[in-house]
Amino acid sequence: MEKKLYKVPDLPYGYKDLEPYISEEQLTIHHTKHHQAYADAANAILEQKFDAAREQDEDFDVKATAKELSFQVGGYNLHNLFWTNMGPADECGGEPNGTLAEYIEKDFGSFERFKKEFSQAAISVEGSGWAALTLCRRTDRLFIMQIEKHNVNVIPNFRIMMVLDVWEHAYYLDYKNVRPDFVEAFWNIVNWDEVNKRMETWLASPL
Ligand code: MN
Repeated sequence: MEKKLYKVPDLPYGYKDLEPYISEEQLTIHHTKHHQAYADAANAILEQKFDAAREQDEDFDVKATAKELSFQVGGYNLHNLFWTNMGPADECGGEPNGTLAEYIEKDFGSFERFKKEFSQAAISVEGSGWAALTLCRRTDRLFIMQIEKHNVNVIPNFRIMMVLDVWEHAYYLDYKNVRPDFVEAFWNIVNWDEVNKRMETWLASPL
């Protein structure tokens, strides 16, 4: 059977298409270097640790490897979600429609209130991390998750609907140290149709 590995997908738009909110240079480096590095590191764990060690029946550090896997695969998966919940500003931004809009109204009271809380979560991540909009099926509620690094504070089984990368590598070329300006810019390029689609898919899947 062919071995499956982590592979960085092409972006669903061009490297210039998120300008002026994310520059071509910033997006190119982020996608081709940073995202690729997580895929490469995750694949190295699969091939060099798991496969090689098990074939040779050699020990490896199970604890350290599980921790590293959580970081590298977390980074790989979050970037896949990030690229696809953005798009060119002439087709994206504004406010959501459909099921997503209904849930935001129900859980946050208004889109403005949601936007404020999500922005605060993103701006206040200590060091490197992400803001994520998630949906808990048990309580039928949207929650904002603040992820440190790629894997800390993640609540199991809360499905991610939308993410914003606030690692410095995501914005430093364009915004230097001013993370709040990047967070504000993000709202112009959110692909709400994609976020709504993720939500409807999750709501339709069996618990
Ligand atoms: Mn990143």
